[in-house]
Amino acid sequence: MSMQVIFLGTSASVPTPKRSLPAIVVKRENEQFMFDCGENAQRQMIIAKTGFHKKMKVFITHMHGDHILGLPGLLQTMALLDRTRELDIYGPPGIRRFLADIKETVQFVLTFPVNIHEITGPGLVCDEEQYTVEAVRSNHVIESLAYALAEKPRPGRFYPKKAKAVGLKEGSLWSDLQRGLKVKLPNGQVIRPEDVMGPPRKGRKVVYTGDTRPFEGFAEFAADADLLINECTLSDELRERADEDGHSTPSQAAENAKKAKAKKLVLTHISARYEDATPLLKQAKKIFKNTIVAEDFLRIELPLPKE
Ligand SMILES: [Zn+2]
Ligand SMILES: [Zn+2]
Repeated sequence: MSMQVIFLGTSASVPTPKRSLPAIVVKRENEQFMFDCGENAQRQMIIAKTGFHKKMKVFITHMHGDHILGLPGLLQTMALLDRTRELDIYGPPGIRRFLADIKETVQFVLTFPVNIHEITGPGLVCDEEQYTVEAVRSNHVIESLAYALAEKPRPGRFYPKKAKAVGLKEGSLWSDLQRGLKVKLPNGQVIRPEDVMGPPRKGRKVVYTGDTRPFEGFAEFAADADLLINECTLSDELRERADEDGHSTPSQAAENAKKAKAKKLVLTHISARYEDATPLLKQAKKIFKNTIVAEDFLRIELPLPKE
């Protein structure tokens, strides 16, 4: 099952010729997740060919313009393309009023239902059959959230030899076991999934910080992430300024990745002052080697873990 992360916008506060405003899409199976929706997100989606009609959830980290002003345009484009499938939008309190006001003042008509979920505290915000999305309060200059998209463990590997050895012929009982159900042999003997299958296999985890200073508890929240997407607005030299503005530096992002034991770190939300982000990358790599800097339209494939 494929899982791909696409960076649609990687700038901070203002767009640059090379970088659009924050928006990230994660494609998984037949569903896509968008994290933040900066201006121009829908045009970036056209270029990235993500499609506008898929099952989709949008997660907004906070109510600063660079993270939300793309939403009205995205909704309008979807409506003009006759989207009919509902869209779920999650975000901090205020997002409902923002969308209601825009809808009224700009008077655009939606062709699909929009379900708005205001997140008032940390915890699970989605609990679906195969995955969860969790939010935690981060530490920016206004109320802000970080998100973790985590797949639930998949059933273990099925061993046909073991199934045959206990007297089970290939058929519907095999699929029952693969779905986690116990089955009964004609002689009454009960076979449990663990008798013929390996241990459950880990799912994948993607964590996105949104705008934030480093904060207490983040390492646990992001623990073992396959991909940590950490904001990195200013370089280490401007650490004080970053702290004042509620942002992080490369070293701080790298410390997060190290403490969380993340597999890979991507720096994003790069200040417009850096035409070339290589110095930021170098600073982060001193602490956490497997780091890259996001560029618009960067795609990262996350394969299923083997075990
Ligand atoms: Zn921002
Ligand atoms: Zn912000």
